[in-house]
Amino acid sequence: MLDAIEREVCRRVDELQEELVDFLRALVRIPTINPPGANYADCAALIGERLREFGYDVQYVEAEDLPESSPSHPRINVIGRMQGRYAHPCLHFNGHIDVVPPGAGWTVDPFDAIVENGRLYGRGVTDQKAGIAASIYAVEAIRRAGVALHGAVEQSATVDEESGGLAGVAYLAERKYFRREAIDHVIITEPLDYDRICIGHRGVYWFDVLMRGRIAHGSMPFLGASAITRMGRLIAAIDRQLKPRLNARRTQMPVEPDGARSATININAVSGGQAMDEPQTPCVADSCRAIFDRRFLIEETLEDVRSEIIEVIESLRQDDPGLTYELIDRLIVHPTMTAPEAKVVAVMSSAIEDVAGCTPPLIASPGTYDQKHFARIAGIEECIAYGPGTLDLAHQPDEYCNLDELRMACKAMALAALRLLDGKKDETAENAE
Ligand SMILES: [Zn+2]
Repeated sequence: MLDAIEREVCRRVDELQEELVDFLRALVRIPTINPPGANYADCAALIGERLREFGYDVQYVEAEDLPESSPSHPRINVIGRMQGRYAHPCLHFNGHIDVVPPGAGWTVDPFDAIVENGRLYGRGVTDQKAGIAASIYAVEAIRRAGVALHGAVEQSATVDEESGGLAGVAYLAERKYFRREAIDHVIITEPLDYDRICIGHRGVYWFDVLMRGRIAHGSMPFLGASAITRMGRLIAAIDRQLKPRLNARRTQMPVEPDGARSATININAVSGGQAMDEPQTPCVADSCRAIFDRRFLIEETLEDVRSEIIEVIESLRQDDPGLTYELIDRLIVHPTMTAPEAKVVAVMSSAIEDVAGCTPPLIASPGTYDQKHFARIAGIEECIAYGPGTLDLAHQPDEYCNLDELRMACKAMALAALRLLDGKKDETAENAE
């Protein structure tokens, strides 16, 4: 049930809808494509200026000491802070400004931000510029309603989430812009549908296997040992031995879709022997490399995951004692999950329930997003993802956001901010009117 202040704030969200959509369209029209990380400075400036207009203290933080930040593609993050009467509680909204390349198959211009039948189309509108716009206007609706917040609100728009977030949230957490002593609750505005809350994600272990062989003349392959054949045996062994075991291992985390509640493994790339487009010589391949993508569960440890792989490779030695290989770590992301009973989960749930009329399911992501950096580097336990936009449309051609859902998500964020930060009608502001 909404009280009088909450009803007033929701009315302001309705009133601000046109301005919100205009702002979102302006964001979509800046093609912040990653890779390579284009136009970040323009997008950060647009967001920073709007935040300043809306009463925030704004700072820009460039990850200038990282190799991916260059004069042509600077990695610029923007953080706004608006303090109420006190520094705590502090609610931090975060969204990423980078979008994946548009790819093929669009029937509209991916950077024109066309509105049709109540939908706003464009690359990155769902994932996740709609989330950034919604959280900024949710707090603005509170301000325009003349409601003073007891605690503080922060909004950050960060770079490179799609490529791991190292110059974005990880950079800011490592340099203490995001600290558990300062921030009490984090809402990452990733698209998960306007009526669901995401409380965490699985782990990622990317590794290379470099299989060695022994070169010989291709007309007498029996004198050599093919690294490609060895890799083929490894892939078959993974299918036969490992995959059924992974499939049987189920997590207690509410990962969606259901198939991703099991541990999984995928092969990203295989390359061995001679280069395909070069002239060929008759040789037995003496090396073959494959890149694997193992997604692991919160119930598994990285050490176990790694030794399980080694065990499968070692089992090939029974028939092939001369086998030599290297296993090289490429990327490690640990699983993370916010407790379902955390305050930010309860408050966001009640807000969505009041706006959408149904209890939002708690889900976990099959992939990963910036929650890992808030949780693992900044040490913030109260962290969720909630935002408008449809999860299934992320990275697709003709990506769009339904504008009614945008409005509902904006209201739910406004109610959550009011409830987390104890919004009260500002008497001084009212008397001044
Ligand atoms: Zn995203």
